[in-house]
Amino acid sequence: MQIDKNDVRDCLLNLIAGLSQWGEDFSEPPALLRQGHMQFVRLLMLEGKKAPIDLHSLIQVLQKPAEEWGIVVAGIYPEEVPLLIPDLGLSSDARDFKIMYDSPEEAQTQEIVEILRYCRGTMPMLEEKYRKLREFLITNPVVSAYHLMEFGLELKDTELMKWLGRCYEEMADDVERYRQCPRCGWTLEFRNDHWQCGAEDLCGKLASHGELKKWETHEPMHRLRYGIYRYTMLPGLAELTAKDWLTRKGYKVELFPQVDRFDLAVELDTHIVYLDMKDFKHPLHLANFFNKMQPHQLEKYRDPHVYIVIPQYRTKIYPGYSKLVKQALMAHASHLKVINERDVQKHLAGEATER
Ligand SMILES: [Zn+2]
Repeated sequence: MQIDKNDVRDCLLNLIAGLSQWGEDFSEPPALLRQGHMQFVRLLMLEGKKAPIDLHSLIQVLQKPAEEWGIVVAGIYPEEVPLLIPDLGLSSDARDFKIMYDSPEEAQTQEIVEILRYCRGTMPMLEEKYRKLREFLITNPVVSAYHLMEFGLELKDTELMKWLGRCYEEMADDVERYRQCPRCGWTLEFRNDHWQCGAEDLCGKLASHGELKKWETHEPMHRLRYGIYRYTMLPGLAELTAKDWLTRKGYKVELFPQVDRFDLAVELDTHIVYLDMKDFKHPLHLANFFNKMQPHQLEKYRDPHVYIVIPQYRTKIYPGYSKLVKQALMAHASHLKVINERDVQKHLAGEATER
C-alpha cells in the first residue's frame, strides 16, 4: 500500500499543533491532537503495524526518533529526531516544521511579514528604513525600554515604530532568571542543568558559554520575541558575518537589497551577485521549505547570479548539508543553486571572470 506523503505531513502538523495547544492547558486534549492521533493510527494500520490506541502510548511513541514510529517519514521529517522531548515538550525540529508550514511566504514571524509588506507597499519603497530596522533587531536582542523608544523615534514613522515595539516583549520582573548569551546577546535560561539559548541552544553548540553575565540594571528591559530571535536575529547574525568578511576581502556588499528580496548583494565589475542565506537546522526542513513553494515563488532563483548559501556553522554541525538539500529538492525546485558559505568566494571569482 502506497502511503501518500501529504497524509503523513498533515498528520504531523495536526499532532504538533494539538500538542502545543495542550501544552498551554492540560485539561481536555484539543481536537487537533485527537485528529492527528487518529491519522497516526490509520497510517500505521495501512502499514499493517501495531498502533498506539491511547494518548499515553502515543506520547511515548512520539518521544522516539521518527524512524522508530513505523511510518515512513523520509523526505518529510528528519528521521533521527523525535517529535517530543520528555519534560520539555515539542522538539526544536517539530517547532521548525510547524513554523515553516504556518508562514508559507518565508519562515518569518507575523511581525516581520507585516513590516515587509508595509515597507514594500509604499512609493518609493522604504528600503533604507527597512535595512535600519532589520539591523537594529539583529544587533539589539535585549534592549532597555528607553533605547528602544529612542530608536523607534529615529525611524520617523509611526507605523514602523508600532511594529518595532511588537518585535519585543518585556522581560519578566525577574531579570535574575536570565543570563546574557555571549554569542548572540539574547537571554539564556537554565534548563536541564545548563544555560540554554532558545530551544535548540545553537549558540551553546557553537561557542562555550564561559563566565555568564547578568543584566545589572533597574531599567525595564525588553527582549526579542522567540520567533524574531529564532527566525530573524539568528540568521541575521550569519548575514552580518558574511557581509563583514566579504567587505574585508574587498567586495562592495549591501544588506537586504530591494527591501529584502535577497539577503546580500555583492557588486562585481560587470554585474551584481545576490546571496540568500538560509538558516534551517536540518537540510530536509530547508528542502521542504522550497518544495512547498509555488513555481512562481521560485522564479527569482532562476537568475544565474543568485545563490542560496548555507551558513558555515550549519555545515560544521551537519557535514554534507547542501548536498542533502539538493537531493531532496523536487523537480520544480531543482534549478536552485545551493552552496556552502566557504565556497562563496570561489563562485564570486568564477563569476568575475565569466564573459
Ligand atoms: Zn544565543
